Amino acid sequence: MSASPVIGVLGLQGDSREHLAALRAAGAEAVVVRRPAELAAVQGLVLPGGESTVIDKLLRIFELRDPLVERIADGLPVYGSCAGMILLADRVLDGTHDQQTLGGLDVTVRRNAFGRQVDSFETDLEVDGVSDRAWPSPGAEDAGPVHAVFIRAPWVEQAGPGVEALGVVPEGPAAGTIVAVRAGNLLATSFHPEITGDTRVHRLFAEMVRAA
Ligand code: GLN
Repeated sequence: MSASPVIGVLGLQGDSREHLAALRAAGAEAVVVRRPAELAAVQGLVLPGGESTVIDKLLRIFELRDPLVERIADGLPVYGSCAGMILLADRVLDGTHDQQTLGGLDVTVRRNAFGRQVDSFETDLEVDGVSDRAWPSPGAEDAGPVHAVFIRAPWVEQAGPGVEALGVVPEGPAAGTIVAVRAGNLLATSFHPEITGDTRVHRLFAEMVRAA
């Protein structure tokens, strides 16, 4: 594997541009993926935030669903943010009646889970493997909690034995809720690090891709 693997960002719907920028800022080579041949050429993939029901439909229309399910089963490193977390989940609560996911991550997520309290909110939280990293640049002194932005976000309601909870909401009505997980080569966050300028989650993912 080369020192700089190519990481794709699924570009069917959602905030793919922000993820491309965050990956590049994290030192990775990043390309948009919209076609099966583009998927075949990447060594890792980001599923962006957006609307999981729409991305689900577009994955089938663009004939990306089956090859992506296959690559996930083969161990492709994938990072899903918000809607991307829903797409990676094996089980979804409060999905639409015909909503499918790609699966691979042994979790049950609840879609729009925080909506019962508040649609969108921000909080600082500790994320294992992330908040102990220095930023804004490698070598900087100021490691610390991740500023997490939640936008009609899912949470992880149940996680299988092979899934590591990396971060939970620290306080408020949703305190203790799991919002960042990793299982093998799959990483998922309920929140959107790509819009905060903090590249540490993308740096963690780029390392996972390099190590795969
Ligand atoms: N609520 C969206 C969904 O169900 C996710 C929102 C987001 O990605 N910011 O897919």
